[in-house]
Amino acid sequence: MQPEPDAKPTPQLTLLYGPTLLAYDFGPEHPFNATRGRLTVELMRETGLLDAPGVKVVPPVEADRDDLFVFHTKEFVDFVQNACVKGYGYLDGGDTPAFEGCYDAALTVVGGSMRAIDLVMTGQTRYVFMPVGGLHHGHPSRASGFCIFNDIAIAIKRLQQQYGVKRIAYIDMDAHHGDGVVYGFYDDPSVLTIDFHEDGRYLFPGTGELHETGRGNAVGTKINIPMPPFSSDQSFFYVFDEVVPAAIRSFKPEIILLVCGVDGHGGDPLTDMNYSTASYLHAVTRLRELAAELCQDRLVVWGAGGYDPATCARCWTGVGAALADYNLPDFLPENWRQHFLKMTGEEAPVGLHENYTSDNTFPRVEKMVGWLKMKVLEV
Ligand SMILES: [Zn+2]
Repeated sequence: MQPEPDAKPTPQLTLLYGPTLLAYDFGPEHPFNATRGRLTVELMRETGLLDAPGVKVVPPVEADRDDLFVFHTKEFVDFVQNACVKGYGYLDGGDTPAFEGCYDAALTVVGGSMRAIDLVMTGQTRYVFMPVGGLHHGHPSRASGFCIFNDIAIAIKRLQQQYGVKRIAYIDMDAHHGDGVVYGFYDDPSVLTIDFHEDGRYLFPGTGELHETGRGNAVGTKINIPMPPFSSDQSFFYVFDEVVPAAIRSFKPEIILLVCGVDGHGGDPLTDMNYSTASYLHAVTRLRELAAELCQDRLVVWGAGGYDPATCARCWTGVGAALADYNLPDFLPENWRQHFLKMTGEEAPVGLHENYTSDNTFPRVEKMVGWLKMKVLEV
């Protein structure tokens, strides 16, 4: 039987995940370790999400060395390869340690993101979610902030070069500014970037000021939103709804990319932000609506940062469920909670949601929105 002409691709959601991604692991003492990804996928399994209708798990395939050169320099790639053989020292000033196998692990993340793009662009799935991936601090010639190779920048290059995509919208809500991607395409008007992050005066990498709006004919296609420390859902919802739909509708992208780093969650140990699970679900739900309205449902979501394993597991399972139209149980499965205790030595949370409601940052974000409307959105 022929499919209906307007039938949506099956599956609805592809989870781009395989155990090889867990090799991207800087060790148990480092915030970016395998526990966060492992506990996330186990919660997805225990809640039934992985077996839900329309959900498929597809593993990454390691990228080739040549795939890196669309964004990275040969000198840097050689440097990482050599450091990987040595297996010690740092790939940057002190955040991103080399480990044996780091080169191949980084290639696997890149290969996963390339596959994510291929699956969406060839109509094999509506959405892809890749929780372990989204290394947005990677620069052409240097590693930075736990990021070796920039899988997202390479994915964007693939969209442009392999698929001829002319308009790409990139939204980044990781608490750290996505400097590798934003500056990697700073003078490229075909890439709209909207980056929410904790104000760079208080958090790594210190960039992403409001007035940074792009260069040359790309001015106006880079939107930076430095959220005040301790911002919670109220501020995020407000800024997101005032800025993102208007910017995306006027840009008319062919695909939407979301970096859904959950280190801006109130439970995260590395940042000062105070979002709850609701902010991530809000972003995903709104972007899904915009992808349906503007770009044939094409939406790729990456996990990126997030350093509290319970927060990663809960937020990313929630994000996956939102993309799959799957109803999660109110209480987290006991099996998973036991396993969490065994792996982390800490008591697991009971439920999926929580609220961080205190938010005295609202007047400041209102001012930022006013500036963006005047300088970017209504120009
Ligand atoms: Zn981050």
